[in-house]
Amino acid sequence: MAIAAETRTLVLSLGYEPIKVISWERAITLLSLGKIEVIEEYDHDIRSTSIVFKCPAVVRLLSVFKRHKKRVKFSRVNIFGRDKYRCQYCGDKGKLADLTYDHVLPKSRGGKTEWKNIVTACYGCNAKKKDRTPREAGMRLRKQPIQPSWVPSMTIQIKKEYAPSAWASYMYWNSELED
Ligand SMILES: [Zn+2]
Repeated sequence: MAIAAETRTLVLSLGYEPIKVISWERAITLLSLGKIEVIEEYDHDIRSTSIVFKCPAVVRLLSVFKRHKKRVKFSRVNIFGRDKYRCQYCGDKGKLADLTYDHVLPKSRGGKTEWKNIVTACYGCNAKKKDRTPREAGMRLRKQPIQPSWVPSMTIQIKKEYAPSAWASYMYWNSELED
């Protein structure tokens, strides 16, 4: 495990915040492109056909890394995920093939196809509800559909015991690293 870890490179942002772990091969590529600088090296050498160099342990990006937050994509699977694969009317749990989605306010009434108007439904409930509101159909939503919160595009999670010691000084920035 230690050997495997020592072929990986911790990438820091320009501000020395750990942002990801990459293979040493990738680190060398980024280095040759002038995108990173090496902050720490491992003790062991890497030998390629013609050159010998130290394996980079910690590198730092030389340009600003934008920590984008991504919206959760509006898709069938993500709707099911938000609703934990449960029909929001009867509460039955289903597999992908057992589920469909339902417009709470029917499309024919101007209901939009968006997070707050779409819920997971089993085919039975979907057929029963038809083009009616839940109230008209005498059906109750288990919970109000919401737009899922933003998810960070990247999280870095490293178990401390798997982190090479060369990374140690650079890991205190991110509490997730301590888990
Ligand atoms: Zn149902």
